[in-house]
Amino acid sequence: MKHVQQQYVSKTASQLKPSGIRKFFDLASQMDNVISLGVGEPDFVTPWNVCEAGYASLESGYTAYTANAGLLELREEISSYLSEQFSLNYSAESQIILTVGASQAIDLAFRAVIDPGDEVIIVEPGFVAYAPAVTLAGGTPVSLETKAEDEFKITRESLEKVITKRTKAILLCFPSNPTGATMSEAELKSVTDVIEEHDLLVLSDEIYAELTYDETHYSIARVNGMRERTILISGFSKAFAMTGWRLGYVTGPEEIISAMLKIHQYTMMCAPTIAQHGALEALKSGREDLERMKKSYRQRRNFLVKSFNNIGLSCHMPGGAFYAFPSIQATGMTSDEFAEKLLEEERVAVVPGHVFGAGGEGYVRCSYATSIDSLQEAVKRIERFMKRRQQA
Ligand code: PLP
Repeated sequence: MKHVQQQYVSKTASQLKPSGIRKFFDLASQMDNVISLGVGEPDFVTPWNVCEAGYASLESGYTAYTANAGLLELREEISSYLSEQFSLNYSAESQIILTVGASQAIDLAFRAVIDPGDEVIIVEPGFVAYAPAVTLAGGTPVSLETKAEDEFKITRESLEKVITKRTKAILLCFPSNPTGATMSEAELKSVTDVIEEHDLLVLSDEIYAELTYDETHYSIARVNGMRERTILISGFSKAFAMTGWRLGYVTGPEEIISAMLKIHQYTMMCAPTIAQHGALEALKSGREDLERMKKSYRQRRNFLVKSFNNIGLSCHMPGGAFYAFPSIQATGMTSDEFAEKLLEEERVAVVPGHVFGAGGEGYVRCSYATSIDSLQEAVKRIERFMKRRQQA
């Protein structure tokens, strides 16, 4: 019967590869005593006042849909937040849509701008959902490989190399999942004239903007000439520890946002109402909690990166997000072998770098969104694992 059912699955869906992150996560969950550096979500519970705002929303009977774009009060709060934190000005009425996580914003953006045959440049190693989202929207993902020697940033040369006549857009994500790379104002400005010259649209996923440790985050939408061609995506999952609430948002030029809103109306109606009330509270009074979590991530990052370099896993200092991306090339193993053996022998789960696309092989992603005690234990185990390899 199975093969009969298979015939109904579309070619596009059949050809999608399952996420490589999930595979290791599932494997690890079947074992005891595993320390997982595999998952990309905060280990913090959503701050209590935000949870209370969620309860209050229910108690007050807010169990119906909101406006398609989301509660106006929340859009206004997001508009002020973007202006205060990142010097970005977007209209609450016509330029912001609340979405079901940044994930839906990514999907919406691609669906609103891609025509068949359009190419979209994806910076890799990159978040696993981008390329499938381009494919599902009917476009062709084209990989722009970043390198450790460039600290996983894009350069003019690497960008120019992948642009063709069919290129419509480029997706940027800084701070990056999985490399933690950030790009400064000057670094962004060194590539924006190429973007302008080729008339590209920019999709900028800035969900980790608040988790930038050494510099101040600078959005590409602030660079002269970029605001009119940038769709900015963000959300509450990471910095506000709200992954399960499923709330993100997208802002950008009015014409594109209104095209996205049409698709959103038909496919989603609106983002979850309770989550919107929680997010309102997070924006109004969540700064202290955000800074507390960020301080903790910074300490863990410093510890983990230093430890990796000490035990022979060369690792650049990630400027943001909550991932370290050490090279495992010294072990002579592929990233799959490394991740499988480390899980088998020492019960530490990491994600093989190749799942993040071009340039990921030879690296593993380790999330430090886990307690410092777990990180210390993980480092001990990885050190033991490395010593066995060095002695063999
Ligand atoms: N963008 C990046 C770079 C991510 O790492 C993630 C989640 O891991 C998302 C978007 C999706 O976030 P959300 O939970 O808001 O859908």
